[in-house]
Amino acid sequence: MTRFIFITGGVVSSLGKGLCSAALGALLQERRFGVRLRKLDPYLNVDPGTMSPYQHGEVYVTDDGAETDLDLGHYERFTGVATRKGDNVTSGQIYSKVLARERWGDYLGATVQVIPHVTDAIKEFVTAGVEDADFAVCEIGGTVGDIESLPFLEAIRQLGNELGRERCLFMHVTLLPFMRVAGELKTKPTQHSVKELQSVGISPDVLVCRSEQPISVEERRKIALFCNVHPDSVIQALDSDSIYAVPRDYHEQGLDRQVLKHFGLTEAPQPSLAGWDRVVQRVRAPDGSVTIGVVGKYTSLLDAYKSLGEALTHGGIANNVRVKINWLDSEIFEKDGQLHELEQVAGILIPGGFGERGAEGKVRAAGFARERGVPYFGICFGMQMAIIEVARSLAGIEGAGSTEFGPCDEPLVGILTEWTRGNQVERRSNDSDLGGTMRLGAYPCNLVPGSKVRQIYGTALIHERHRHRYEVNVNYRKCLEAAGLRFSGMSPDGELPEIVELANHPWFVGVQFHPELKSKPFEPHPLFTDFVRAAVKQSRLM
Ligand code: GLN
Repeated sequence: MTRFIFITGGVVSSLGKGLCSAALGALLQERRFGVRLRKLDPYLNVDPGTMSPYQHGEVYVTDDGAETDLDLGHYERFTGVATRKGDNVTSGQIYSKVLARERWGDYLGATVQVIPHVTDAIKEFVTAGVEDADFAVCEIGGTVGDIESLPFLEAIRQLGNELGRERCLFMHVTLLPFMRVAGELKTKPTQHSVKELQSVGISPDVLVCRSEQPISVEERRKIALFCNVHPDSVIQALDSDSIYAVPRDYHEQGLDRQVLKHFGLTEAPQPSLAGWDRVVQRVRAPDGSVTIGVVGKYTSLLDAYKSLGEALTHGGIANNVRVKINWLDSEIFEKDGQLHELEQVAGILIPGGFGERGAEGKVRAAGFARERGVPYFGICFGMQMAIIEVARSLAGIEGAGSTEFGPCDEPLVGILTEWTRGNQVERRSNDSDLGGTMRLGAYPCNLVPGSKVRQIYGTALIHERHRHRYEVNVNYRKCLEAAGLRFSGMSPDGELPEIVELANHPWFVGVQFHPELKSKPFEPHPLFTDFVRAAVKQSRLM
C-alpha cells in the first residue's frame, strides 16, 4: 500500500522544498522504505525544455527522455532512485491532456470543468506508477496562494479525503523571518500561510519552518497553537552549509519520526545516517582544494548549472578535496589577450549551452586548455566547441563551425535528421518546433578499447543522458583522428560520435552527453572523479 506525502510551500518561494522532499525521501529510505518522489509544477509550459535557464534554472533530463524540473535532480542524488517521465507534471501537460480528451469526445458531451476534469487528471498523475513504492512524496511547486496552484491543491485535498488521512500526510514548508531590530523570529507569515491552506480545505500535519535562528520552545508552541499541529511536528530547518547535511539535521529535529507516527509506523527501524555523515565530513573537512574554471553563459544564475556544480562537488568528495569553482563568462575570452583568468585554474570545464553568444570564447578557452596541457572537460556544447577548435587549429579546417549558428562551410557540428534508438528510428528536421526535437534521454555508447574513457569507466558499454539538437558530423572522423583527436566513444551503429579525447594531453575529454545528471554523492561519476584527480595533479605543477 503506497502512502502519499504532499509537500506545499508558503510565505516565499525558493524555500528549498525540493531539498526538503529529497531529504525526507532519503530518511524514509534509510528506514528501509521504498520511495518515489515527484513534482507537480503549476506553470502552463508543457515542460521546462523551452524555458530560459534564467527563468527556470537547469533542465533535468531523465533516462526515459523527459525534460523536467531541477528538483528531480535533487531527488535522484539523494535517493539514488532513477526519475522517470511520470515524475514531473505541469499544468500545461494536464490541460493538454484534458483538452485532447475533450476533442476526442471522451467526456460524452459533459461541460468540461476544473473540478472534476482537471483535478481528476491531476489525481491520475499523482497515483499512477507509484505502486512499487511504500511512499510517494509529491512536491507541489509554487507558493500557496498562487492562482495556478489552486487545481493542484484541490486535487490533493480530494485525495486526502478519498484515500483517508492514514494514507496521506500534508507537509507545509514555510519561513520564519528574523527581525533583527526586534531580535525575534516572526511567526505571523506562517500562520497566514497555513490559514490560506486551510481555506482550501487542507490542514497541514507537519510544518517545516525555515529559519536563520533556532526556534525557541515558546515560538514552537505558538506556531503549533495557531496552526493546529502538534508542537513536535513543528520542525526547525536552519540554513545549512552543505545540502548533504540536511537529512541529518531534519532527523535530529524529528521529521521522519513525526511522519511515521502520523502513519502509525512507529516500529520502523532507526535510520543509520553514517553514509551521510561521511559525505558531510568530506565536504566540510577535505584535505586541500582545487580550482576549476567553468566557462559558460549563465554564470550569473548558478541554478542553471545545478547538477554540474554538484557533480564537481562529488568529484571532490571522491578525491578528498574541496572543488572551488570559478564561474567565467565565455564572452570575456572573445577579446584579445583576455585569457589570463584561465591561468589561475587547474582544470577547465565547458558545460552544455545553446546559441552563438559566447561560443567563440568557448572555442578559445578549449584552445588554451589544449595548448597549455590544462585538464579539459567538454560537456555537450563544450565537446562541440572543442572539436571545432581542434579542427581549425590541428586539422587545418579553417571554416569549421556548427550549423546551430547558421549555414557554414565546414559543418563539423550539424543537425542530424534521423537516428536510431533501440529498434526505432527517431526523426527531426530543421524546422520542427523547439519543444521536444532534441535527442533526449539515455543512449548507449561503446567505449573504444585502449582509450582513456574505457579505462576511467572500467567497462565497454555505458548509458548516458543526452539533451541536444546538433551532432558531431562523423564524416570528419578520419581527418580529425589524423590530427590526434581520438573518437573514443561511439553510438552502437557507429554513426554518432559520443566521446572524443586528445591522446597527447594529460586530460582532454569531450562528451556529447551530460554525465553530471547521473552523479551522486555516494557514487561520484567516474568522469568527474578522474577530471578532478587530473586537476589536483595539475595544481601541484602550478
Ligand atoms: N546547443 C547544442 C546542441 O543543441 C548543445 C546542447 C547542449 O549543450 N546541451 O546540440
